[in-house]
Amino acid sequence: MAGELEGEAVLSRQADAEDTPVPTPFRSRSGGGGPTRDGWVAAHLRDIPRSGIRDFFDIVSTRRDVISLGIGEPDFETPWHIREASIYALDHGATSYTANLGLLELRQAIAAYVGESCGAAYDPQTEILVTVGVSEALDLAVRAVCAPGDEVLYHEPTYVAYAPVVAFAHGTPVPVPTRREDGFRLTRAMLEPALTRRTKAILLNFPTNPTGAVLAREDAAGIARLAVERDLLVITDEIYAELTYDGGERVNVAALPGMKERTIFLNGFSKAWAMTGFRVGFACAPPELTEAMMKIHQYTMMCAPILAQKAAVEALRSGRNDVARMRAEYERRRNFIHSSLNEMGLPCHLPQGAFYAFPYVGDYGLSSKDFALRLLDEQKVACVPGSAFGPSGEGFLRCSYATSMEALKEALSRMAAFVKGLSAEFHG
Ligand code: PLP
Repeated sequence: MAGELEGEAVLSRQADAEDTPVPTPFRSRSGGGGPTRDGWVAAHLRDIPRSGIRDFFDIVSTRRDVISLGIGEPDFETPWHIREASIYALDHGATSYTANLGLLELRQAIAAYVGESCGAAYDPQTEILVTVGVSEALDLAVRAVCAPGDEVLYHEPTYVAYAPVVAFAHGTPVPVPTRREDGFRLTRAMLEPALTRRTKAILLNFPTNPTGAVLAREDAAGIARLAVERDLLVITDEIYAELTYDGGERVNVAALPGMKERTIFLNGFSKAWAMTGFRVGFACAPPELTEAMMKIHQYTMMCAPILAQKAAVEALRSGRNDVARMRAEYERRRNFIHSSLNEMGLPCHLPQGAFYAFPYVGDYGLSSKDFALRLLDEQKVACVPGSAFGPSGEGFLRCSYATSMEALKEALSRMAAFVKGLSAEFHG
Protein backbone atom coordinates (compact mmCIF):
# COMPACT_ATOMS: atom_id res chain seq x y z
CA MET A 1 0.00 0.00 0.00
CA ALA A 2 2.69 2.45 1.04
CA GLY A 3 4.78 1.89 -2.12
CA GLU A 4 1.85 2.57 -4.41
CA LEU A 5 1.01 5.78 -2.59
CA GLU A 6 4.61 6.87 -2.51
CA GLY A 7 4.70 6.43 -6.27
CA GLU A 8 1.70 8.72 -6.72
CA ALA A 9 3.24 11.36 -4.52
CA VAL A 10 6.53 11.26 -6.38
CA LEU A 11 4.68 11.72 -9.69
CA SER A 12 2.76 14.70 -8.37
CA ARG A 13 5.96 16.24 -7.00
CA GLN A 14 7.61 15.88 -10.42
CA ALA A 15 4.64 17.48 -12.16
CA ASP A 16 4.84 20.33 -9.67
CA ALA A 17 8.51 20.85 -10.36
CA GLU A 18 8.05 20.96 -14.13
CA ASP A 19 5.06 23.31 -14.10
CA THR A 20 6.37 25.84 -11.65
CA PRO A 21 9.10 28.40 -12.29
CA VAL A 22 11.98 28.19 -9.83
CA PRO A 23 11.16 30.71 -7.10
CA THR A 24 13.60 33.50 -6.44
CA PRO A 25 13.85 35.64 -3.31
CA PHE A 26 11.16 38.31 -3.04
CA ARG A 27 9.19 36.87 -5.95
CA SER A 28 6.15 34.83 -5.03
CA ARG A 29 5.82 31.40 -6.52
CA SER A 30 2.56 32.41 -8.11
CA GLY A 31 4.49 35.01 -10.09
CA GLY A 32 2.93 38.04 -8.43
CA GLY A 33 6.31 39.70 -8.18
CA GLY A 34 5.52 41.26 -4.77
CA PRO A 35 7.97 41.37 -1.88
CA THR A 36 7.13 37.93 -0.51
CA ARG A 37 9.10 34.78 0.12
CA ASP A 38 6.00 32.57 0.17
CA GLY A 39 7.33 30.67 -2.81
CA TRP A 40 10.05 29.13 -0.68
CA VAL A 41 7.61 27.48 1.69
CA ALA A 42 6.86 23.85 0.89
CA ALA A 43 3.46 23.54 -0.75
CA HIS A 44 2.14 21.04 1.81
CA LEU A 45 2.83 23.53 4.64
CA ARG A 46 1.31 26.61 3.11
CA ASP A 47 -2.29 25.62 3.73
CA ILE A 48 -1.80 24.48 7.32
CA PRO A 49 -3.23 27.22 9.54
CA ARG A 50 -1.55 28.49 12.68
CA SER A 51 -2.95 27.14 15.90
CA GLY A 52 -6.25 28.84 16.80
CA ILE A 53 -5.00 28.94 20.40
CA ARG A 54 -2.00 30.99 19.36
CA ASP A 55 -4.16 33.33 17.28
CA PHE A 56 -6.47 33.92 20.20
CA PHE A 57 -3.65 34.50 22.66
CA ASP A 58 -2.06 37.03 20.36
CA ILE A 59 -5.23 39.02 21.00
CA VAL A 60 -5.20 38.27 24.74
CA SER A 61 -1.61 39.51 25.03
CA THR A 62 -2.72 42.99 23.98
CA ARG A 63 -5.14 43.25 26.96
CA ARG A 64 -4.42 44.09 30.59
CA ASP A 65 -5.68 42.52 33.83
CA VAL A 66 -7.04 39.43 32.15
CA ILE A 67 -7.71 36.22 34.10
CA SER A 68 -6.65 33.43 31.80
CA LEU A 69 -8.34 30.05 31.72
CA GLY A 70 -6.66 29.54 28.40
CA ILE A 71 -3.36 27.93 29.11
CA GLY A 72 -2.89 24.17 28.98
CA GLU A 73 -0.09 24.28 31.49
CA PRO A 74 -0.04 23.41 35.20
CA ASP A 75 -0.04 26.41 37.53
CA PHE A 76 2.13 24.39 39.94
CA GLU A 77 5.89 24.71 39.94
CA THR A 78 7.85 21.53 39.39
CA PRO A 79 8.24 19.84 42.81
CA TRP A 80 11.48 20.93 44.44
CA HIS A 81 13.13 17.49 44.73
CA ILE A 82 12.70 17.03 40.97
CA ARG A 83 14.32 20.39 40.26
CA GLU A 84 17.07 19.50 42.73
CA ALA A 85 17.88 16.35 40.76
CA SER A 86 18.67 18.55 37.76
CA ILE A 87 20.67 21.00 39.85
CA TYR A 88 22.64 18.17 41.47
CA ALA A 89 23.36 16.61 38.08
CA LEU A 90 24.55 19.91 36.67
CA ASP A 91 26.70 20.52 39.73
CA HIS A 92 28.28 17.12 39.18
CA GLY A 93 29.14 17.74 35.56
CA ALA A 94 26.17 16.28 33.67
CA THR A 95 26.64 18.42 30.58
CA SER A 96 26.95 15.83 27.82
CA TYR A 97 24.79 14.11 25.24
CA THR A 98 23.12 10.89 26.40
CA ALA A 99 22.49 7.72 24.39
CA ASN A 100 20.09 8.50 21.53
CA LEU A 101 17.43 6.34 23.17
CA GLY A 102 17.89 8.26 26.43
CA LEU A 103 19.61 7.49 29.72
CA LEU A 104 19.31 3.79 30.50
CA GLU A 105 18.37 4.56 34.12
CA LEU A 106 15.45 6.65 32.82
CA ARG A 107 14.35 3.98 30.35
CA GLN A 108 14.43 1.45 33.18
CA ALA A 109 12.37 3.74 35.39
CA ILE A 110 9.89 4.25 32.51
CA ALA A 111 9.61 0.48 31.96
CA ALA A 112 8.86 -0.03 35.67
CA TYR A 113 6.34 2.83 35.72
CA VAL A 114 4.50 1.80 32.54
CA GLY A 115 4.44 -1.85 33.61
CA GLU A 116 2.93 -0.96 36.96
CA SER A 117 0.50 1.77 35.92
CA CYS A 118 -0.63 0.48 32.51
CA GLY A 119 0.01 -3.25 32.62
CA ALA A 120 2.18 -3.22 29.47
CA ALA A 121 5.74 -4.61 29.61
CA TYR A 122 8.39 -2.81 27.55
CA ASP A 123 12.08 -3.67 27.24
CA PRO A 124 14.16 -0.60 28.18
CA GLN A 125 16.91 -1.68 25.76
CA THR A 126 14.80 -1.84 22.61
CA GLU A 127 11.26 -0.59 23.17
CA ILE A 128 11.53 2.79 24.90
CA LEU A 129 12.70 6.08 23.40
CA VAL A 130 13.10 9.24 25.50
CA THR A 131 12.01 12.34 23.56
CA VAL A 132 11.80 16.11 23.81
CA GLY A 133 8.28 16.17 25.22
CA VAL A 134 5.31 14.27 23.87
CA SER A 135 5.41 16.82 21.05
CA GLU A 136 8.51 15.20 19.61
CA ALA A 137 7.28 11.69 20.39
CA LEU A 138 4.09 12.39 18.45
CA ASP A 139 5.97 13.76 15.48
CA LEU A 140 8.33 10.75 15.47
CA ALA A 141 5.49 8.26 15.77
CA VAL A 142 3.58 9.77 12.87
CA ARG A 143 6.63 10.22 10.65
CA ALA A 144 7.81 6.69 11.40
CA VAL A 145 4.60 5.10 10.14
CA CYS A 146 3.06 7.54 7.68
CA ALA A 147 3.90 7.26 3.98
CA PRO A 148 2.52 9.95 1.64
CA GLY A 149 -1.23 9.58 1.32
CA ASP A 150 -1.66 7.32 4.34
CA GLU A 151 -4.71 8.25 6.36
CA VAL A 152 -4.61 8.72 10.11
CA LEU A 153 -7.92 8.78 11.98
CA TYR A 154 -8.28 10.85 15.12
CA HIS A 155 -11.22 11.85 17.27
CA GLU A 156 -12.29 15.49 17.27
CA PRO A 157 -12.47 17.90 19.05
CA THR A 158 -8.95 17.11 20.14
CA TYR A 159 -5.42 18.42 20.55
CA VAL A 160 -4.50 21.08 17.99
CA ALA A 161 -1.27 19.40 16.84
CA TYR A 162 -2.66 16.13 15.48
CA ALA A 163 -3.87 17.19 12.04
CA PRO A 164 -0.79 19.37 11.32
CA VAL A 165 1.65 16.65 12.42
CA VAL A 166 0.01 14.15 10.06
CA ALA A 167 0.07 16.72 7.24
CA PHE A 168 3.78 17.47 7.91
CA ALA A 169 4.38 13.76 7.27
CA HIS A 170 2.48 14.01 3.95
CA GLY A 171 -0.30 11.92 5.42
CA THR A 172 -4.00 12.70 5.40
CA PRO A 173 -5.61 13.58 8.73
CA VAL A 174 -9.13 12.17 9.01
CA PRO A 175 -11.16 13.61 11.90
CA VAL A 176 -13.93 11.54 13.46
CA PRO A 177 -16.36 13.88 15.27
CA THR A 178 -17.38 13.04 18.82
CA ARG A 179 -20.43 14.51 20.58
CA ARG A 180 -21.28 16.14 23.86
CA GLU A 181 -24.42 13.99 24.11
CA ASP A 182 -22.16 10.92 24.33
CA GLY A 183 -19.64 12.53 26.69
CA PHE A 184 -17.24 12.81 23.69
CA ARG A 185 -16.62 9.06 23.73
CA LEU A 186 -15.12 7.28 20.75
CA THR A 187 -16.38 3.88 19.68
CA ARG A 188 -15.57 1.33 17.02
CA ALA A 189 -18.86 2.12 15.29
CA MET A 190 -17.85 5.78 14.96
CA LEU A 191 -14.50 4.89 13.40
CA GLU A 192 -15.73 2.29 10.94
CA PRO A 193 -17.37 4.62 8.38
CA ALA A 194 -14.11 6.64 8.16
CA LEU A 195 -11.96 3.62 7.23
CA THR A 196 -10.60 3.31 3.69
CA ARG A 197 -7.94 1.12 2.11
CA ARG A 198 -5.49 3.93 2.88
CA THR A 199 -6.16 4.03 6.62
CA LYS A 200 -2.89 3.36 8.42
CA ALA A 201 -3.39 4.37 12.02
CA ILE A 202 -5.81 5.55 14.68
CA LEU A 203 -4.59 8.33 16.93
CA LEU A 204 -6.11 8.36 20.41
CA ASN A 205 -5.88 10.94 23.15
CA PHE A 206 -7.62 9.95 26.39
CA PRO A 207 -8.10 11.78 28.69
CA THR A 208 -8.77 14.22 25.88
CA ASN A 209 -7.56 17.75 25.49
CA PRO A 210 -9.96 19.69 25.29
CA THR A 211 -13.00 17.65 26.39
CA GLY A 212 -11.67 15.75 29.41
CA ALA A 213 -13.26 12.54 28.06
CA VAL A 214 -11.75 9.21 29.09
CA LEU A 215 -11.76 5.88 27.28
CA ALA A 216 -14.14 3.28 28.71
CA ARG A 217 -12.87 -0.29 28.77
CA GLU A 218 -15.55 -1.55 26.39
CA ASP A 219 -14.81 1.23 23.89
CA ALA A 220 -11.08 0.51 24.09
CA ALA A 221 -11.77 -3.19 23.51
CA GLY A 222 -13.92 -2.42 20.45
CA ILE A 223 -11.29 -0.10 18.96
CA ALA A 224 -8.58 -2.69 19.66
CA ARG A 225 -10.57 -5.42 17.88
CA LEU A 226 -11.06 -3.12 14.91
CA ALA A 227 -7.32 -2.38 14.79
CA VAL A 228 -6.49 -6.09 14.83
CA GLU A 229 -9.11 -7.03 12.22
CA ARG A 230 -8.13 -4.21 9.85
CA ASP A 231 -4.40 -4.45 10.56
CA LEU A 232 -4.13 -0.87 11.81
CA LEU A 233 -1.68 0.82 14.11
CA VAL A 234 -2.77 2.73 17.18
CA ILE A 235 -0.87 5.76 18.43
CA THR A 236 -2.05 6.65 21.90
CA ASP A 237 -1.11 9.96 23.52
CA GLU A 238 -1.70 9.50 27.24
CA ILE A 239 -0.09 12.65 28.54
CA TYR A 240 -3.06 13.25 30.87
CA ALA A 241 -3.41 9.65 32.05
CA GLU A 242 -2.30 10.44 35.61
CA LEU A 243 -4.95 13.16 35.76
CA THR A 244 -7.97 10.84 35.77
CA TYR A 245 -10.60 11.61 38.40
CA ASP A 246 -13.22 9.86 40.53
CA GLY A 247 -10.80 6.95 40.91
CA GLY A 248 -11.53 6.12 37.26
CA GLU A 249 -9.83 3.18 35.62
CA ARG A 250 -6.91 3.88 33.28
CA VAL A 251 -7.24 1.73 30.21
CA ASN A 252 -4.16 1.39 28.05
CA VAL A 253 -4.89 -0.09 24.63
CA ALA A 254 -1.34 -1.50 24.47
CA ALA A 255 -2.24 -3.86 27.31
CA LEU A 256 -5.25 -5.33 25.45
CA PRO A 257 -4.95 -8.66 23.60
CA GLY A 258 -3.05 -8.42 20.30
CA MET A 259 -2.35 -4.71 20.74
CA LYS A 260 1.18 -4.30 22.05
CA GLU A 261 2.70 -5.15 18.67
CA ARG A 262 0.56 -2.52 16.91
CA THR A 263 0.59 0.32 19.46
CA ILE A 264 2.86 3.31 19.95
CA PHE A 265 2.26 4.56 23.46
CA LEU A 266 3.23 8.17 24.23
CA ASN A 267 3.50 9.85 27.59
CA GLY A 268 5.51 12.58 29.24
CA PHE A 269 6.18 14.67 32.29
CA SER A 270 4.76 18.07 31.32
CA LYS A 271 1.30 17.80 32.82
CA ALA A 272 1.08 15.38 35.75
CA TRP A 273 4.55 16.25 37.13
CA ALA A 274 4.25 19.96 36.19
CA MET A 275 7.42 19.81 34.11
CA THR A 276 6.49 21.61 30.87
CA GLY A 277 9.76 23.56 30.77
CA PHE A 278 11.94 20.46 31.07
CA ARG A 279 10.75 19.16 27.68
CA VAL A 280 10.84 15.44 28.31
CA GLY A 281 8.54 12.66 27.19
CA PHE A 282 8.77 9.11 25.87
CA ALA A 283 7.47 6.65 23.31
CA CYS A 284 7.04 2.92 23.97
CA ALA A 285 6.65 0.61 20.97
CA PRO A 286 7.77 -2.73 19.53
CA PRO A 287 11.50 -2.80 18.60
CA GLU A 288 11.08 -2.19 14.85
CA LEU A 289 8.89 0.87 15.44
CA THR A 290 11.17 2.17 18.20
CA GLU A 291 14.12 1.74 15.84
CA ALA A 292 12.29 3.68 13.09
CA MET A 293 11.48 6.53 15.47
CA MET A 294 15.04 6.45 16.79
CA LYS A 295 16.38 6.86 13.27
CA ILE A 296 14.55 10.18 12.88
CA HIS A 297 15.33 11.24 16.45
CA GLN A 298 19.08 10.59 16.18
CA TYR A 299 19.43 12.65 13.01
CA THR A 300 17.16 15.50 14.06
CA MET A 301 17.39 15.76 17.85
CA MET A 302 20.24 13.46 19.01
CA CYS A 303 18.78 13.12 22.50
CA ALA A 304 16.61 14.84 25.06
CA PRO A 305 18.55 17.21 27.34
CA ILE A 306 20.46 15.30 30.01
CA LEU A 307 19.35 17.56 32.88
CA ALA A 308 15.70 17.04 31.98
CA GLN A 309 16.27 13.28 31.84
CA LYS A 310 17.86 13.33 35.30
CA ALA A 311 14.85 15.22 36.63
CA ALA A 312 12.50 12.70 34.98
CA VAL A 313 14.28 9.81 36.74
CA GLU A 314 13.62 11.54 40.07
CA ALA A 315 10.00 12.25 39.06
CA LEU A 316 9.36 8.56 38.41
CA ARG A 317 11.25 7.28 41.44
CA SER A 318 9.93 9.70 44.05
CA GLY A 319 7.21 11.89 42.50
CA ARG A 320 4.17 9.76 43.21
CA ASN A 321 2.96 11.86 46.17
CA ASP A 322 3.39 15.08 44.20
CA VAL A 323 1.23 13.75 41.39
CA ALA A 324 -1.41 12.61 43.89
CA ARG A 325 -1.40 16.04 45.58
CA MET A 326 -1.80 17.94 42.29
CA ARG A 327 -4.42 15.49 41.02
CA ALA A 328 -6.50 16.00 44.18
CA GLU A 329 -6.33 19.78 43.72
CA TYR A 330 -7.31 19.55 40.03
CA GLU A 331 -10.22 17.32 40.97
CA ARG A 332 -11.43 19.84 43.57
CA ARG A 333 -11.28 22.59 40.93
CA ARG A 334 -12.93 20.34 38.34
CA ASN A 335 -15.90 19.83 40.66
CA PHE A 336 -16.14 23.56 41.26
CA ILE A 337 -15.89 24.64 37.61
CA HIS A 338 -18.32 21.94 36.48
CA SER A 339 -21.05 22.96 38.90
CA SER A 340 -20.43 26.71 38.41
CA LEU A 341 -20.70 26.48 34.62
CA ASN A 342 -23.90 24.46 34.76
CA GLU A 343 -25.40 26.80 37.36
CA MET A 344 -24.73 29.88 35.24
CA GLY A 345 -26.46 28.27 32.24
CA LEU A 346 -23.52 26.91 30.27
CA PRO A 347 -24.22 23.18 29.99
CA CYS A 348 -21.06 21.22 30.70
CA HIS A 349 -20.54 17.45 30.84
CA LEU A 350 -18.37 16.19 33.69
CA PRO A 351 -14.76 16.05 32.47
CA GLN A 352 -13.24 12.86 33.86
CA GLY A 353 -9.63 13.68 33.16
CA ALA A 354 -7.06 16.30 32.04
CA PHE A 355 -7.60 19.85 33.34
CA TYR A 356 -10.16 21.37 30.98
CA ALA A 357 -13.89 22.01 31.15
CA PHE A 358 -15.62 22.21 27.77
CA PRO A 359 -19.01 23.91 28.20
CA TYR A 360 -21.51 24.40 25.40
CA VAL A 361 -21.92 28.11 24.61
CA GLY A 362 -23.90 27.84 21.39
CA ASP A 363 -27.26 28.98 22.80
CA TYR A 364 -26.61 32.71 22.45
CA GLY A 365 -26.36 33.22 18.71
CA LEU A 366 -22.59 33.73 18.81
CA SER A 367 -19.84 31.64 17.29
CA SER A 368 -17.42 30.22 19.86
CA LYS A 369 -14.82 32.76 18.74
CA ASP A 370 -17.21 35.71 19.13
CA PHE A 371 -18.32 34.39 22.50
CA ALA A 372 -14.68 34.18 23.64
CA LEU A 373 -13.86 37.64 22.25
CA ARG A 374 -16.82 39.29 23.95
CA LEU A 375 -16.04 37.51 27.23
CA LEU A 376 -12.52 38.86 26.94
CA ASP A 377 -13.65 42.39 26.06
CA GLU A 378 -16.46 42.68 28.56
CA GLN A 379 -15.21 40.67 31.54
CA LYS A 380 -11.48 40.19 30.93
CA VAL A 381 -11.61 36.41 31.08
CA ALA A 382 -9.69 34.45 28.44
CA CYS A 383 -10.90 31.00 27.36
CA VAL A 384 -10.10 29.22 24.10
CA PRO A 385 -12.87 29.04 21.45
CA GLY A 386 -13.81 25.42 20.82
CA SER A 387 -13.34 25.93 17.08
CA ALA A 388 -9.57 25.93 17.72
CA PHE A 389 -9.93 22.14 18.22
CA GLY A 390 -11.56 21.46 14.87
CA PRO A 391 -15.01 22.07 13.35
CA SER A 392 -16.72 19.77 15.84
CA GLY A 393 -15.45 22.01 18.64
CA GLU A 394 -17.58 24.88 17.33
CA GLY A 395 -20.16 25.92 19.92
CA PHE A 396 -17.87 25.13 22.86
CA LEU A 397 -15.30 26.93 24.98
CA ARG A 398 -12.21 25.38 26.55
CA CYS A 399 -11.71 26.57 30.12
CA SER A 400 -8.53 25.35 31.77
CA TYR A 401 -8.66 24.83 35.52
CA ALA A 402 -4.90 24.62 35.78
CA THR A 403 -5.10 27.90 37.63
CA SER A 404 -5.47 28.81 41.31
CA MET A 405 -8.85 28.32 42.99
CA GLU A 406 -8.89 32.03 43.80
CA ALA A 407 -8.46 33.04 40.15
CA LEU A 408 -10.93 30.38 39.09
CA LYS A 409 -13.61 31.73 41.47
CA GLU A 410 -13.16 35.27 40.21
CA ALA A 411 -13.17 34.16 36.56
CA LEU A 412 -16.36 32.15 37.02
CA SER A 413 -18.17 34.96 38.76
CA ARG A 414 -17.24 37.26 35.85
CA MET A 415 -18.42 34.61 33.41
CA ALA A 416 -21.73 34.29 35.25
CA ALA A 417 -22.25 38.07 34.92
CA PHE A 418 -21.39 37.86 31.22
CA VAL A 419 -23.83 35.00 30.59
CA LYS A 420 -26.57 36.82 32.50
CA GLY A 421 -26.11 39.89 30.29
CA LEU A 422 -25.97 37.78 27.16
CA SER A 423 -29.08 35.90 28.17
CA ALA A 424 -31.04 39.14 28.63
CA GLU A 425 -29.75 40.40 25.28
CA PHE A 426 -30.43 37.23 23.33
CA HIS A 427 -33.49 35.73 24.97
CA GLY A 428 -35.05 39.06 25.92
N1 PLP B 1 -0.42 15.96 23.76
C1 PLP B 1 -1.46 16.65 24.28
C2 PLP B 1 -2.81 16.05 24.22
C3 PLP B 1 -1.26 17.91 24.85
O1 PLP B 1 -2.31 18.57 25.36
C4 PLP B 1 0.03 18.47 24.86
C5 PLP B 1 0.27 19.82 25.39
O2 PLP B 1 -0.63 20.60 25.62
C6 PLP B 1 1.08 17.72 24.31
C7 PLP B 1 0.82 16.47 23.77
C8 PLP B 1 2.49 18.24 24.27
O3 PLP B 1 3.13 17.97 25.48
P1 PLP B 1 4.68 18.13 25.74
O4 PLP B 1 4.83 19.33 26.64
O5 PLP B 1 5.10 16.86 26.43
O6 PLP B 1 5.36 18.31 24.45
